[in-house]
Amino acid sequence: MINCHFHDDRSSDGDGRLESHCEAAVAAGIRHICVTNHAEVMAPSGAWTADLAEMRDRFLAVRESVSACNSRFPDLEVRLGVELEYRPEWVDTFDRLTAEVSFDFVLGSVHLVDGYNVSGGPGRDVFFQGRSQHEAYDRYFREIAEMIEWGGFDAVSHFDLVKRFGYRHYGGYEPERYRGVIESVLVAMADRGIGMEINTSGVHGPGSPYPEREILEWARSVGVPALTIGTDSHEPGVFDHGLAEGIELAHASGWTEFTVFERRQPAVHVPVGQALTWAADRRGSGGLRDSPA
Ligand SMILES: [Zn+2]
Ligand SMILES: [Zn+2]
Repeated sequence: MINCHFHDDRSSDGDGRLESHCEAAVAAGIRHICVTNHAEVMAPSGAWTADLAEMRDRFLAVRESVSACNSRFPDLEVRLGVELEYRPEWVDTFDRLTAEVSFDFVLGSVHLVDGYNVSGGPGRDVFFQGRSQHEAYDRYFREIAEMIEWGGFDAVSHFDLVKRFGYRHYGGYEPERYRGVIESVLVAMADRGIGMEINTSGVHGPGSPYPEREILEWARSVGVPALTIGTDSHEPGVFDHGLAEGIELAHASGWTEFTVFERRQPAVHVPVGQALTWAADRRGSGGLRDSPA
């Protein structure tokens, strides 16, 4: 099994040394992992900065830990990734960062829209309160569209993250209402060779992984080239959080394999059927923290 989205204590919002995350992966029977710390730094004040020299030094240090963990954990393949926040003023810096540090995998994310962090902090309510559901979600997907135009990454993380707190304001949402903008984004991803991620951190937030099943089906039908999966965990204790649900969602939406990237290229393909067996074993052993009681 794989987990290609998690954060250790070198991410400004993460906890636990990489070794501890690796121990959790081995205990869960996961073979391929990729640490994807945030590049930009979120200060306690809420200000975000993206300083090239600071980021480069920090990720070179993470790369040392990745090498050490690959030696220490022979049953594990550990890769170096990064999660980049799309902001027009940061893209040149990020392009330089990914040129200077040889990452295995780069995620593109949108948390900030019109200056508000829709995924946390006080700004999220300001973003939603001033808009109808349609305005808020349409605005979010248009920001993703702009990020694809930049394209300096390998897969889109948590494609419909807007639902994380959007559901508290408006209840559930129907992807069909946004199908026009979503499909245009997916077609652009297919054209540019950008993959899709199933991010299982939504299981205990809005109640389902990101993105919704319909979006995964449309992604497959327009030719989005790869599907990855990650828990977006920020501490070792919840390393495999939601993974079983994410695997079942991949299966339900018709995807047949997960892709693991190495040196920014698809390298390992894990059949979804094999992952389903892992999920059933984990449920059977009671090893899943998120399984129903
Ligand atoms: Zn994120
Ligand atoms: Zn993340």
